[in-house]
Amino acid sequence: MQIRNPIILVGIGVAMILIACVTIGTSYITAEETIKNPYPVTLETVNEIIPLPAKDRYGYERGIFEYQDYEVKRNESLYIIMRRYDISPQDIYKMQQKAEGVANLSRMVPGQQYRIYFKDDKPVSFIWHPELTQYVTVDWRDGLRIENGEIPVRFVTKEASGIIQSSLYESIVGQGHSHFLGSELAAVFAWQVDFFSLRNGDHFKVIYEERYAGDEFVGIGDVKAAEFQHRGQTHRAFFFNNDERRGYFDENGNSLEKDLLKAPFRYSQRISSSFSRSRFHPILRRNRPHYGTDYAAPTGTPILAVGDGIVTEAQRRGGNGNIVQIRHNGSYRTAYLHLNGFAPGIRKGVKVEQGQVIGYVGQTGLATGPHLCYRMYVNDQPINSVKADLPASDSLEEALMPELQRIIDRYQGLLENLQLAEKVAEIDESVDNQPKTAP
Ligand SMILES: [Zn+2]
Repeated sequence: MQIRNPIILVGIGVAMILIACVTIGTSYITAEETIKNPYPVTLETVNEIIPLPAKDRYGYERGIFEYQDYEVKRNESLYIIMRRYDISPQDIYKMQQKAEGVANLSRMVPGQQYRIYFKDDKPVSFIWHPELTQYVTVDWRDGLRIENGEIPVRFVTKEASGIIQSSLYESIVGQGHSHFLGSELAAVFAWQVDFFSLRNGDHFKVIYEERYAGDEFVGIGDVKAAEFQHRGQTHRAFFFNNDERRGYFDENGNSLEKDLLKAPFRYSQRISSSFSRSRFHPILRRNRPHYGTDYAAPTGTPILAVGDGIVTEAQRRGGNGNIVQIRHNGSYRTAYLHLNGFAPGIRKGVKVEQGQVIGYVGQTGLATGPHLCYRMYVNDQPINSVKADLPASDSLEEALMPELQRIIDRYQGLLENLQLAEKVAEIDESVDNQPKTAP
């Protein structure tokens, strides 16, 4: 079968045929093989039928305008760039005047993209991208025109899968996916999977969106559905999003997020000193940030782990006194300071459950009286646990279940059909049970 006549196709169909042809073409690239090619689709045929829109994405006619693309460099400004094209200082001033209320042309930051259009070798227009999907047009062809524009973002559904052999990150990037996908996936399964101790053979499947501005990849959209097998247990996540709820749920409507207790006590305790970026330290007698909440509680009051997690520290350490630290997931971590002592079995590396007693209030280290200094970190940044919007763990409301079921029906089969990118058999069993690095 030969395709000789030009076929008029538009848009994505053309792109797909082009890709298909290139693939077929390259697989028959050697001389003796060429004869055997049962599908002699020539690339020339394809080239003839690619219809380019008359105007480019910024509205300039192809073939009439030429352009050059640049990145804003350090210390570059509108003035410096425009002077390079012999635009007079007066005209640059006019641009800045006219841009007022439309765009802030003095906000150029290194790394931003810009384009200069030329007509008959003369610069006629400047396109500046404060964001990949947003741009400002400064056009001086016919008077001065300054406008904001937007490149529509396309969402493309993609799939990925892999078997962990070193880290999630390597598994994802090694297959040519964006490393942002690794972070997204780690966030979805933050409470189910300990990404700091992945094992050979753990594997994942994911259906997600990628965002494109024109042809340019501008980031990951939502993870729609995913599966993660960790230590022999399979976890599934389906993205639910309507006016009432937004989050990831398993096939039974259970939230994948676990909650954290608002405070590490069974009964409420008085706060004696709040979280503050700057407070007067009673012992050091100078202003220091206080990245925690102090609870004045009697010595010996049991202290509870605010969420499931792994103890990463349980020891006496300087001014902190006896300290316990718990890593709850890839982003949340809590610390408990000045303890009188540790609860039995609490030491580095052990698992704790929400509500489990980990130690007792004391005044070890730098402390004027018995109290607990309780600290919370999100991605290693201290946050005010009292004011923080902590993750909610409520399962999906019964009334919303049919909607979740429709989502599950749509993605479950896709997940099942997704082949794992590598073979499980390739895993080296001898290094199993080794903790793996975090994503
Ligand atoms: Zn404190």
